[in-house]
Amino acid sequence: MVISLKYLPHLVKEALGLIIPFFFFLGKRYPLVFGTPKSSKSIIGKSNPLWQYILDHSLREHPILKKLRLLTADHPWSKMMVSCDQAQLMANLVKLIKAKKVIEIGVFTGYNTLNMALVLPDNGRVIACDINEDYIKIGKPLWKEAGVEHKIDLRIKPAIQTLDELLASGEAETFDFAFIDADKESYNEYYEKCLRLIKRGGIIAIDNVLWSGRVLKPRKDDLATQSIHHLNEKLHRDARVNISMLPMGDGVTLAFKL
Ligand code: SAM
Ligand code: CA
Repeated sequence: MVISLKYLPHLVKEALGLIIPFFFFLGKRYPLVFGTPKSSKSIIGKSNPLWQYILDHSLREHPILKKLRLLTADHPWSKMMVSCDQAQLMANLVKLIKAKKVIEIGVFTGYNTLNMALVLPDNGRVIACDINEDYIKIGKPLWKEAGVEHKIDLRIKPAIQTLDELLASGEAETFDFAFIDADKESYNEYYEKCLRLIKRGGIIAIDNVLWSGRVLKPRKDDLATQSIHHLNEKLHRDARVNISMLPMGDGVTLAFKL
């Protein structure tokens, strides 16, 4: 069948008219697979009224923590900050297990570092690991303003190095809680080292385990997604921990060391 070239623009228009609504439908029907990643990285997007409902009916945020969240919201990388409802869950867990020593891998502007420091006892410690001091400069004055700066031990170097130093200085099995939230390619190493540093009964929270839905179809060349997906598979059968994978924020797995 020969189609005259003069009909080509019309045919292309017709085809697009069918294809675009089809992908729109897939995006709505299967948002985690076909939808565009939400900037909030939340399963319930920040434009969803339920998100506001959750905050209105559960969030109890310290005023200085709120100040840091709003300050970070203006940063070009603000979407890296953990969601406030998830931070509150972690603070509640830290309190529940009466944690004294915690590790944060990936500090950014220090929202969750402050969140955890606020609920630790006065002799508690957050070992805060990051490689970028510029981000931290934003939050550091607020750590001071909140009166918890003395609980935060900031280590500016690759987190693997800090974890190795803690292990080498005999601090294995002395930590209560760890939050893993830095470069995704190193997640397995972070998990293994944290597992050695955490006591029995301690908790490791692993962030972004759903990675805006990309874990459903990890591409071979997407190392971050591959790494998260492999750790998710490993954790599912890891007899050293009990786990819960929560659809909160961008997905968070809680691993309870047995
Ligand atoms: N947990 C933070 C919060 O609650 O707002 C968000 C952390 S942000 C997603 C990731 C951070 O990991 C960035 O600040 C980045 O500089 C840091 N990072 C990236 N690679 C790292 C590495 N190898 N060691 C330590 N930190 C690293
Ligand atoms: Ca994160």
